[in-house]
Amino acid sequence: MTHIITSLCLRDGACVEVCPVECIVPGFPESEWPWYFIDPDTCIDCGACVPECPFEAIFPEEEVPAQYTMAAGQERYPFGGERYAAKGGEVVDLTADIQHNYDFFSKGPGYDSAP
Ligand code: SF4
Ligand code: SF4
Repeated sequence: MTHIITSLCLRDGACVEVCPVECIVPGFPESEWPWYFIDPDTCIDCGACVPECPFEAIFPEEEVPAQYTMAAGQERYPFGGERYAAKGGEVVDLTADIQHNYDFFSKGPGYDSAP
């Protein structure tokens, strides 16, 4: 298991410094990889990053919500889309974001070449 960063991530980087194994990196280019990503092979599931996120974007993989209700004004940065602010009450499936975390390291630019 790993922790997962979802499309509620707004790229402020607050989670990076608390990770004891330094496995959180910014997605790049941002237009293709809009969030920060957690290397699933390195994450030790300590949970330290979760309370650091001001936007509550990080979940243990098994707890990523399939039906997440957006609050009014809450922002989201959907994969392949534009960042937007919710009207409030929209229900989104954040489990669709799980695979992108894996793909960033297996198919995307990954870890070693992070800026
Ligand atoms: S759960 Fe722990 S090891 Fe995994 S990304 Fe968060 S801080 Fe790092
Ligand atoms: S997961 Fe949260 S704390 Fe980490 S970069 Fe994204 S918004 Fe910031």
